[in-house]
Amino acid sequence: MDHFQLKHGILHAEDVPIDRIADEVGTPVYIYSHATLTRHARVFRDALSILPRVHLAFAVKSNPNLAVLKVLQREGYGADVVSEGEMRRALAAGMRAQDIVFSGVGKSAAELAAGLEAGIGQFNLESEEEGAELAALAAARGIRAVAALRVNPDVEAGTHAKISTGKAENKFGVSYERAAEIYARLSALPGIEMRGLAVHIGSQLARLEPLRDAFARMGELMRLLRGQGLCVTHMDLGGGLGVPYRADETFPSPAEYAAMVAEATRDWDVTLMFEPGRVIAGNTGVLVTRVIRVKAGVNCPFVVVDAAMNDLARPALYDAWHDFVAVRPSGRRMVASVVGPICESSDTFAKERDIDAVAAGDLAVFRTAGAYGATMANTYNSRPLVPEVMVDGSRYAIVADRIDPAAILAAEHVPDWLA
Ligand SMILES: *Cc1c(COP(=O)(O)O)cnc(C)c1O
Repeated sequence: MDHFQLKHGILHAEDVPIDRIADEVGTPVYIYSHATLTRHARVFRDALSILPRVHLAFAVKSNPNLAVLKVLQREGYGADVVSEGEMRRALAAGMRAQDIVFSGVGKSAAELAAGLEAGIGQFNLESEEEGAELAALAAARGIRAVAALRVNPDVEAGTHAKISTGKAENKFGVSYERAAEIYARLSALPGIEMRGLAVHIGSQLARLEPLRDAFARMGELMRLLRGQGLCVTHMDLGGGLGVPYRADETFPSPAEYAAMVAEATRDWDVTLMFEPGRVIAGNTGVLVTRVIRVKAGVNCPFVVVDAAMNDLARPALYDAWHDFVAVRPSGRRMVASVVGPICESSDTFAKERDIDAVAAGDLAVFRTAGAYGATMANTYNSRPLVPEVMVDGSRYAIVADRIDPAAILAAEHVPDWLA
């Protein structure tokens, strides 16, 4: 459920008509609904309250906007970060360092050091090499880094190949077979306190079975470690729960997910950690765009909009579907391809799709764009960096400015020897 609904024939974000924001801020623009974000944060948290000890770490990469992080901080969330930049954002939003999990497959020495100096709560190690480096950096500072070992459980997540992370051939984590020996060796290092295992098998998961299989394997590994006298007090179960992008799709609810977790982890006696991203942020945002013109095509017309793959990359990257709906729907329909202005054929949001009829100048939105939307935006084709707005009831605020191409140009330099 979200708060982007038609009222008096006009699509609203909560109580604000979307055309008002488009007129005042310009397009393209992302709009987030505070009420939707809060609701998703609470539904997920409440669902997991059936588990004894839980730590929630919002996956910052899914939506790193400072205002979004602030809302989640107020809802009791920590953060899962994958770079020093994300760590700085989480801290800037008021999240406590000890509530931050530092993940990421290629944390540099500088990033590990920055995490140690900030007092990060848990480093999720992707390799023995990284663990040894972290231990040395911590020992040199006279402290112990708290860490978990990310394990690749070699399960098929059943999602798009580009967002599957838990098969043996994926770059993430250490292999299941070698995990116990690596955990034992890392536990013996003076600069590190190994406290658990981490797993994250992929994103936009539509079924619970792959997660259940992965958690069962992690439970076995946990028992093996404990059998060897090693300490395991925390188990990080990652994120990955999918959301419907189309009306006809159904996904496991947070309550069903929580029930599965409760069953899978019944006798674990650990603090369970979660890293939800999409399930919290996905439905909280739309990308608003204006139709530049409708151009005749061979099979059907092209609706050329002012948003492009640089603003919303998911269709180009993952063949992802985003519903496209008019802000003032007339009730008429058309079959068209919806494309952006960028000089790439992958800059296509919808192919020969049955959509609300639109004409030049009309406003429309791409729905379910709150996760992996603005965060992936770039300035390809020297386009502006897309702005973000947050709505709360009848008020709204710009929570990220549009970055003008002139500002980016001003950061570039022609060397003397070319002038
Ligand atoms: C991306 C990511 C997440 C969040 O995934 P969602 O599918 O958005 O829930 C969680 N943990 C790790 C390690 C990730 O890389």
